[in-house]
Amino acid sequence: FLQCANVWKAYGERDVLKGISFNVKPGEVVAVIGPSGSGKSTLLRLVNHLESIDQGEIRVGGRYVGYVKENGRLRPTSGRAKARAEVGVSMVFQSFNLFANLTALENIMEAPVRVHGVPRAEAEALARRLLAAVGLSSHADHLPQHLSGGQQQRVAIARALAVKPRLMLFDEPTSALDPELVGEVLNVMRALAEAGMTMIIVTHEIRFAREVADRVVFFDEGSIVEEGAPADILDKPSKERTRRFLSVIG
Ligand code: ATP
Ligand code: MG
Repeated sequence: FLQCANVWKAYGERDVLKGISFNVKPGEVVAVIGPSGSGKSTLLRLVNHLESIDQGEIRVGGRYVGYVKENGRLRPTSGRAKARAEVGVSMVFQSFNLFANLTALENIMEAPVRVHGVPRAEAEALARRLLAAVGLSSHADHLPQHLSGGQQQRVAIARALAVKPRLMLFDEPTSALDPELVGEVLNVMRALAEAGMTMIIVTHEIRFAREVADRVVFFDEGSIVEEGAPADILDKPSKERTRRFLSVIG
C-alpha cells in the first residue's frame, strides 16, 4: 500500500534520510524504532507529504501525493492537503495538536466538514461514533484543556480516523503522556490494529511493538539498519547497533 523507494532528505548540508526503501502492505502494522535524531519523524512527515523529498519516490495506494512524474522527475503540484485526503493518510502526533478553541466533538468534525465537504449532521454522527470507539462519549463537549493527556490523544486518534484513512501514522503517540495514561492510548491503537488498519507507529514502547506489530524496523542515522518480525528484531537482533539501542531503552 505504501512504497518508499530510495528516499533521500537533507536539511541544509545534513542528510537526514539516506536512501530509505520501505514498503507497507495493506493491513500491516509496522513499528519503527531507533535513537533520537535518526530520522523517524522525518520519514513519517514525508509519507504524509508535510514536506517534499529530495530524491526517490513515495507512493501511497499506487499514487504520488503532491507530485507528478515528468520525464522521470518529480514535480510538486498544488493541492497537497486535498491529495493527501484523497489517498487517505492520517497522522497522530506526540503533542496531540488538537485545536484548542474547539470541543472534542468539533475537533473530530473539522476535517470531514472543511476538507471533505461532509454535511454537518453526518460529520457529527460519525464524530460521536468515533468518540464512543475511543471511550469518550461523555466528553464530547469538553475543550482540550479540560481533558487529560490520554484523553486528548484519544480525541486526536478519533480526529485522525474521521477522514476514513487507509493508512495511519503515529509519531511517538504516548511519549508525552504520564505513565499511567499510556495504556488507554495503546489500547485504542491495539483495537485499531486488530480491526485491520494499516499503521506505521514510531514508538519506544517495545512491549507494545512486540505484541501488536507485524514487523519492526530499526532506524539509525537515516538508514534502516534491520527489519523483520518483532521476535527476531527485538529478541535476537543481528546487528550490534540494534542490540546496543535495545539494551539502552529496554
Ligand atoms: P526523535 O526520536 O528525537 O523524535 P527522530 O528520529 O524523529 O528523533 P527527526 O525528527 O526525523 O528524528 O530528525 C532527524 C534529524 O533531522 C535531526 O538531526 C533533526 O535535528 C533534523 N531536523 C528535523 N527537522 C528539521 C528541520 N525542519 N530543519 C532542520 N533540521 C531538521
Ligand atoms: Mg521524532
